[in-house]
Amino acid sequence: MSVRATEPYDDSNVFARILRGEIPCKRVFEDGFALAFHDIHARAPVHVLVIPKGRYVSSADFLARASEGEIAGFFRAVGQVARELGLETTGYRMLANTGSDAHQEVPHFHVHLFGGRALGPMLVEPM
Ligand code: AMP
Repeated sequence: MSVRATEPYDDSNVFARILRGEIPCKRVFEDGFALAFHDIHARAPVHVLVIPKGRYVSSADFLARASEGEIAGFFRAVGQVARELGLETTGYRMLANTGSDAHQEVPHFHVHLFGGRALGPMLVEPM
């Protein structure tokens, strides 16, 4: 079931549980704004998820409600994770699925970071 970008936040979602330490993750980075960990179903040699510490359902929710400090802190953390993973030399892709057309599955805003190989075209499906 895909997420509606504007649905109420569900505290039982898997990333909320990871933030509370109820479910383990393979952590690569953490600061006051963000937690980054390896995706359980990696689609590239490097596939890391970066999530904000706050309760935001989607990128739409985050960008509408988060403070300037949270937004800046979060995206700086995304950049730091990419740099620390060594992705800046060969490049990487940032992706945030938002809502049903994008097949967002977990209703806590997250950015995917993909790298470690040539990633191919941006979208598979033709228009
Ligand atoms: P999305 O479709 O953008 O909502 O992507 C959700 C991502 O979360 C998928 O790539 C899943 O493989 C990943 N995922 C789901 N549960 C876990 C988990 N427990 N630990 C790490 N990644 C997860």
